[in-house]
Amino acid sequence: MSTPSSAVENVVIVGTGCAGLTAAVYTARANLSPLILEGPLPGGQLTTTSEVENFPGFPEGVDGYELMQNLRKQATKFGARFEQTLVSSVNFSSNPKQLITSEKTLLAKSVIISTGASPRMTGIPGEKELYGGKGVTTCATCDGAFYRNMDVAVIGGGDSAAEEALFLTRFASKVYLVHRRDSLRASKIMSDRATSHPKIQMVWNSAPIEVMGVKEGSVSGLKVQDTKTGAFSVLPIKGLFVAIGHVPNTAPFKDSLDLDDAGYLVPVLGSQVKTKIPGVYVAGDCADHIFRQAITAAGMGCQAAIEAERWLSEHS
Ligand code: NAP
Repeated sequence: MSTPSSAVENVVIVGTGCAGLTAAVYTARANLSPLILEGPLPGGQLTTTSEVENFPGFPEGVDGYELMQNLRKQATKFGARFEQTLVSSVNFSSNPKQLITSEKTLLAKSVIISTGASPRMTGIPGEKELYGGKGVTTCATCDGAFYRNMDVAVIGGGDSAAEEALFLTRFASKVYLVHRRDSLRASKIMSDRATSHPKIQMVWNSAPIEVMGVKEGSVSGLKVQDTKTGAFSVLPIKGLFVAIGHVPNTAPFKDSLDLDDAGYLVPVLGSQVKTKIPGVYVAGDCADHIFRQAITAAGMGCQAAIEAERWLSEHS
């Protein structure tokens, strides 16, 4: 059982992606001395991205990891405090609100939830067994360099899949882009880049069936099925990059806040960030299944911070 923490925080921000760190900058600059809880991926999804080309103000693009490091520095400069811990559940019916971690129960007047989303997996045989160091991964930026001069495959048809495939062309000899339909969902610019790249071979209308190589302990192929003909084939690859979207990290809040069918936190009508609990706000990919961009997450973090600041000034 976790022991209660004696201090009552003004604001606890859960998550350190673009939304959480922007909320941290704003609440820290408002002299609220926010406490930011860092989860298993400090800096969030952008730290696993290479070049971010569409964040306003960076005409040459900016490295995702560097952008998040700078945001963290900016928040720290204004007095934000960071703690590495995982929230397992919450009690928002009490005042102050309670956030339960394995070590203690944190008390907060207001809370900003910006827990982001995690990579979705296909669930096909072999994927789990060969995940992490054995050939299956969800991050080309992190693992791409291990596949120099090898053939690899990316599963997915969105911007992430196109981006991963393009990044992998720096290392791999060939990149199969495996998509279950015959056109990409990705934006036109990314689709054009991916489909015209000489190292990328499109594998259309193909559903992933099995990752081969479990017995050997490393990926040796990807079995796919043609969705039109039903025929099976095996792509001879050494690395598999799964890029089929994300699932929101909202489990600790499911009993206290409203979630939609896909698990996204749902704000109250008329607001992007207010929840049904006064003083509790949401921001970023944990509550946004539509835009899911770094800049929109940052915008929501800013809104949540300003709402929290106003609520605190009225209720302290
Ligand atoms: P996404 O747009 O949801 O695309 C997921 C892709 O995976 C879809 O093509 C989907 O196929 C496929 N898929 C889903 N489940 C599958 C399964 N079980 N087996 C095989 N394929 C499966 O996700 P995303 O690419 O991660 O992008 C998410 C958001 O972030 C989007 O709004 C995107 O624009 C944005 N984003 C932007 C950038 C950028 O601007 N540079 C980069 C990355 C992401 P179907 O098409 O058939 O549904």
